[in-house]
Amino acid sequence: MGSQEVTSPWDGKNITVAGLGVSGISAARALAGFGASVTVVDGGDSEAHREKAALLKEAGISVQLGDSTTLPEGTELVVTSPGWKPSSPLFAEAAAAGVDVVGDVEIAWRLRGPNAAPWLAITGTNGKTTTTQMLASILDAAGLRTAAVGNIGTPIIDVVLEGDDAYDVFAVELSSYQLHWAPSLRAHSGAVLNLAPDHLDWHGSMEAYAADKGRIFEGNQVACVYNVADKATEDLVVEADVDEGCRAIGFTLGTPGPSELGVVDGILVDRAFVENRQKNAQELAEVTDVNPPAPHNIANALAAAALARAFGVEPQAVREGLRNFRPDAHRIEHVADVDGVAYVDDSKATNTHATQASLASYESIVWIAGGLAKGATFDELVTGAAKRLRGVVLIGADRALIREALQRHAPEVPVVDLDRTDTGAMSAAVQEAARLARTGDTVLMAPACASMDMFTNYNKRGEAFAEAVRELGATSV
Ligand code: ADP
Repeated sequence: MGSQEVTSPWDGKNITVAGLGVSGISAARALAGFGASVTVVDGGDSEAHREKAALLKEAGISVQLGDSTTLPEGTELVVTSPGWKPSSPLFAEAAAAGVDVVGDVEIAWRLRGPNAAPWLAITGTNGKTTTTQMLASILDAAGLRTAAVGNIGTPIIDVVLEGDDAYDVFAVELSSYQLHWAPSLRAHSGAVLNLAPDHLDWHGSMEAYAADKGRIFEGNQVACVYNVADKATEDLVVEADVDEGCRAIGFTLGTPGPSELGVVDGILVDRAFVENRQKNAQELAEVTDVNPPAPHNIANALAAAALARAFGVEPQAVREGLRNFRPDAHRIEHVADVDGVAYVDDSKATNTHATQASLASYESIVWIAGGLAKGATFDELVTGAAKRLRGVVLIGADRALIREALQRHAPEVPVVDLDRTDTGAMSAAVQEAARLARTGDTVLMAPACASMDMFTNYNKRGEAFAEAVRELGATSV
């Protein structure tokens, strides 16, 4: 546990942790372990909250339930959880008291010892989890001790606490929220996959969202990886203050120029990390090594490969790592064929940018959409997809926004508005979609919205869809 012996800037400090979620609990325990006097605050006061609170109290941590706005007396530092908006009253109080607010990623970064494993960091509006897992798979194939951490499920503090010697390198998924609250983070190399409006209600504006994403490039040592097809990501590289000698590396689905990775005749090639990049290119893998080989996913594979190559990984390991990779559930997942119609679960498509990618992957679609729009508009999405739509079934709280966009840009497409936000609505939606579909069509549940109006999370929404498809299969003749 080298890192604990090296650093303990928190000994005796009064620290308030905002949020009793996975990252809040991890931060509270770690900081208490470093001798801080920790209080966790959370606005909830349910049975589940009290159970978690009881466990923390056993570890000597105070918990304030049912009140998330009052800053505990004497607080010297606030550690926030990703879901809390910068405009939360607790932070206004902290600001008024001159108290710093940071996130769990910042704490993890400050916890690292002098010989800690470098971070290869990934952000973007969509594809973060997939790309981070692809990267971890590639690093693993290269024989490196690694883990996919951060926004992906494993709290980053927990792996850092295992000590400097436990890992060689981390594949780190970072959300815009985490980047917002991690001012001193300096990754070995970083990538921004794409940038489209999302979470604007949290950040306040597109500019603020982009600026937070761009923080991933600050202080990069070897490479800043951007998407050639998305100029906004390149602009972030230009604006970043990086280490001397750090390079801008683009990825593209087209033929790569010097300092880019791209695709030539079905082959993923590297023209960045090769000798004499003006003339040479290195084969890394074939498009068919990518799982699934949909265009947006090939882009993810190129970004993962760029970060791995920046870390010195050999081409053979890139190929092997991509071949070993299997995508997580609810990401363009083929559930079943019923009566000649394919049913696809892309519940993870929680914004219009992701849905655009999945609508572009099929020819004739019955689209199930709706949920919480998070401030999004749907005109561009509907315009781009109109020709592919056999029909649309709408569910969820903000479905009127999608219905109006369809009326404006695709008035000929049949729309069933279920006018429901209960959990059982998914089963009705699948039945309506089956009615609209013809042989050879795809019923695609890619809602372009968050799920929390109807479900606990996107996993539950995907499971409800799969269950409804199974019911349909059982009753079809
Ligand atoms: P994130 O962690 O950023 O939410 P995921 O890898 O979990 O990303 O994928 C989220 C959604 O975005 C999925 O619905 C997937 O189909 C879609 N997606 C994945 N990669 C991309 C990409 N590069 N561009 C657009 N959409 C993508």
